[in-house]
Amino acid sequence: MKKLLVALSLVLFFAATAAAQTTGPQQAKAVKFGKLWDGKGRLWSNAIVLIENDKITSVTTNASDIPANAQVIDLSHYSGLPGLIDVHTHMTIYTDETPGKPMLKQLADNPPAVEVFLARKGALRTLAAGVTTVRDLGADQYEDIAMRELINRGEMIGPRMFVCGYGITVTSTAFKPGFNPPQGGIADGVPEVLRVLRQQIAAGADVIKMYASTGTDDDTSQFETYSYEEIKAAVDAAHQFGRKIAIHSYGPDGARDAVRAGTDSLEHATDLDDATIQEMVKRGTFYVPTIDHNRYYLDNWQKIGYSDGFQAKTKAFIERNLATARKAHKAGVKFAMGSDAIYTMFGENTRELAWFVKAGMTPEQALRTATSNAADLLGKSNELGAVASGYYADLVAVEGDPLSDIEVAIRNVRWVMKGGAVVVDRTR
Ligand SMILES: [Zn+2]
Repeated sequence: MKKLLVALSLVLFFAATAAAQTTGPQQAKAVKFGKLWDGKGRLWSNAIVLIENDKITSVTTNASDIPANAQVIDLSHYSGLPGLIDVHTHMTIYTDETPGKPMLKQLADNPPAVEVFLARKGALRTLAAGVTTVRDLGADQYEDIAMRELINRGEMIGPRMFVCGYGITVTSTAFKPGFNPPQGGIADGVPEVLRVLRQQIAAGADVIKMYASTGTDDDTSQFETYSYEEIKAAVDAAHQFGRKIAIHSYGPDGARDAVRAGTDSLEHATDLDDATIQEMVKRGTFYVPTIDHNRYYLDNWQKIGYSDGFQAKTKAFIERNLATARKAHKAGVKFAMGSDAIYTMFGENTRELAWFVKAGMTPEQALRTATSNAADLLGKSNELGAVASGYYADLVAVEGDPLSDIEVAIRNVRWVMKGGAVVVDRTR
């Protein structure tokens, strides 16, 4: 009897949890906004977004369009935006600030299952920043695939994830007799690049990531690590399988070869030469400069566990990164917002938008990098990045006018809906 009761209460608990997560997916909803920037170039006053299940059925200003049975959510004191998209995260490289243990040490010590379980906290903080979709660019042991599946099943609350498995990278460990280095994403030479890339697709990767230069964490060096032939092989193989590819390069050489090889997006790259910038304009290559992640490293280096002494180089890199972004924007390169969020940076994902405004964008142009542009880069421009009929019901309510001050979108998120379910509510 006792056993039965326990089982019954567990069923009830899960039913309650499922209900809380979806707040009745079958019930039609109508969300009212004072202003709505729809991601398609229109600014609505007194907009009403009509939702069925996880999709938007229409946007209207006519209250008589609201179905009689619909749940009305009144956010008329707020401005509405499409759910934001962060195209460069590392959701499973999450750490907390466990006292006395630097983050780098925590990562090395945590088993993969622990990492995935902890990552739910970063996922919630990401949602609270208004980010309802991420492109996750590098994880260990397919933790990203596990997390994507848990979120899609409703077992974990978090942003919709598009993931890459292991990023493809050159050998970077010394020879040790009797020790087999972990394979993961390591690939040297075209045949190995092809094998490792195909392994990621077999594992269930949505997108391919390749590291074409040195530079990460407190290291801002910019040496190209792959040859043009290796990069070209990866780009072509990714495209052959219908996947897009994101190529990491801190420096101009890897960037030049990545762009020339046809990468879909170029991550981080600083000191881009004019010819590469022109080539990006011509090809429509997305630039994801990730300026803010180095700001995060400077603010948190002791907690992360970097050694003192890297700061001057990183500060100089940020300045050059911003200057490169300014130049690329002026030339007409397309941008997508990527935070490179890692460790405890989740929730600060959209600070990158302020750098984009510093680089010369209007707040509206900056918002496009995290909505319509990012959706294009994901190949999801008919489902994500806009508030319109047929799109996922991913909505954000902010307090203030994000089109006159980008900080409103960064700091004043009050309410978030993902796929028709309210996941953040700070309106009360
Ligand atoms: Zn990254």
